[in-house]
Amino acid sequence: MGSDVDNMMTFLRQHGNQRFCSTCLAFELTLSFQGVDSALATVGQQAALTESRGHCAICGRRALVTGCESNGNNGSPEERVLRLVLDHVGRFFCHACVARRLELNIGTVQKAVWGLRASSEVRIDDTACSGCGRSQFVLGGVLPQDVRKAIVTVLLTVANVLRR
Ligand SMILES: [Zn+2]
Ligand SMILES: [Zn+2]
Repeated sequence: MGSDVDNMMTFLRQHGNQRFCSTCLAFELTLSFQGVDSALATVGQQAALTESRGHCAICGRRALVTGCESNGNNGSPEERVLRLVLDHVGRFFCHACVARRLELNIGTVQKAVWGLRASSEVRIDDTACSGCGRSQFVLGGVLPQDVRKAIVTVLLTVANVLRR
């Protein structure tokens, strides 16, 4: 199993920013589909992988394709996950929904969430996902302390005005 992961990592690294479908990855690395999935999830925790719909570099078919994340303009997976939840404060997303929205591999999302768990801007909860509705471990953004304080101040002011 360890060597399947190593082989997958080596293969994806060697092919830079090319993306591949699971059928071709299974064939190239002589793995079962399940083997490809679990190897990709493990590799994704070690290296940032992107997963999106696109054309496979080998067979050319349009499918869900995976490759190394080209760490360019988008920021690190952690930054992107944080930006997503802060853009949707009040909503919660499971790992699968975060992965789909950000076009990231599930392992890469898990690692990013793990890295964010201590952040005061993020809340991890066990409730229904705002994306798929399933109840599971979800991640949501929390407004920064000063923003919350400002909102409370405004509400108190409004309440005082109304009372007069
Ligand atoms: Zn393919
Ligand atoms: Zn979900």
